[in-house]
Amino acid sequence: MRQRELKRLKAMVAKLTFAQRRELMDELGTDAEAAASVGIIEAQGKEAGCPHCGNGHVVRNGSASGLQRYKCRICGRTFNALTGTPLARLRQKSKWIVQAEVLRDGMTITQAAKRLKVARSTAFRWRHRFMAVPKTIQAQSLAGIAEADETFFLHSRKGQRGLDRKPRRRGGRAAKRGLSKEQVPVLVARDRSGATANIILAADGKVDLVAALKPLLPSDTILCTDGSSVLAAAVKEIGVTHRPVNVSAGRRVIAGVYHIQNVNAFDSRLKNWIRRFNGVATKYLDSYLGWFRTLDRSSSPGLQPASLLALALNSRAVLN
Ligand SMILES: [Zn+2]
Repeated sequence: MRQRELKRLKAMVAKLTFAQRRELMDELGTDAEAAASVGIIEAQGKEAGCPHCGNGHVVRNGSASGLQRYKCRICGRTFNALTGTPLARLRQKSKWIVQAEVLRDGMTITQAAKRLKVARSTAFRWRHRFMAVPKTIQAQSLAGIAEADETFFLHSRKGQRGLDRKPRRRGGRAAKRGLSKEQVPVLVARDRSGATANIILAADGKVDLVAALKPLLPSDTILCTDGSSVLAAAVKEIGVTHRPVNVSAGRRVIAGVYHIQNVNAFDSRLKNWIRRFNGVATKYLDSYLGWFRTLDRSSSPGLQPASLLALALNSRAVLN
């Protein structure tokens, strides 16, 4: 736009009513969000090299769907920054920075759809595509003093058709407390550096606990648990040092550095956060756990939407 035209536009802006001004600002805000989204996406594309053959020898090759297109000099195929990521072929990428914000804030699908101005089905699809990467990120090994506990989630077939029983009130309670087919056991293991693993267990038993815990624990780990008999049996089989904190009689046997406060605090933050979704379908529990780990890892001032978007794009996101 010419300088003269801009001057005229500014003069026109001065005549706007308050409501019109708000409308214009909304419009400009949306443009800024779109530019930010595309900027982050493009920034990922430059670094990665060819997603087809892994070669770094790539050249610019026009553009398509609003993104820079590249061509690989080795395999001859074209790609853009989204090729091969969980976000490939999703539409409306200009809204993705807002989608990342929606994820950070843990909005429900209804809230997200409203904020993003998309259908609920779109908000749902985006949520799960964005969580594809975070759910794969968790500690592969713990070190030093570690803590482990089991936590339970209500089994839920939320969103599935053809329920063979009357649907439970959302987020309701299991008929039986503790162990039953209605509960999904999840191992929460965490060391003092904050490295955390959440593993969904097929059953609450020694075999599954050993399979989940063993790869996480180097032989010199000292593992603190609440001393439940099933965890104790599992730790004994694994062979690391066990420091049970509360025996079943309720006696506090060991104090000082041997406690399970970190794992308990993590569990209560997790349960508190997940409550807002009014029960999550068991088949998506893994995604929600990964999402929570991501949010929980990044301390104040809070995970930036840009980092979350970069993470969803499967890149080396900057997480503190
Ligand atoms: Zn290639």
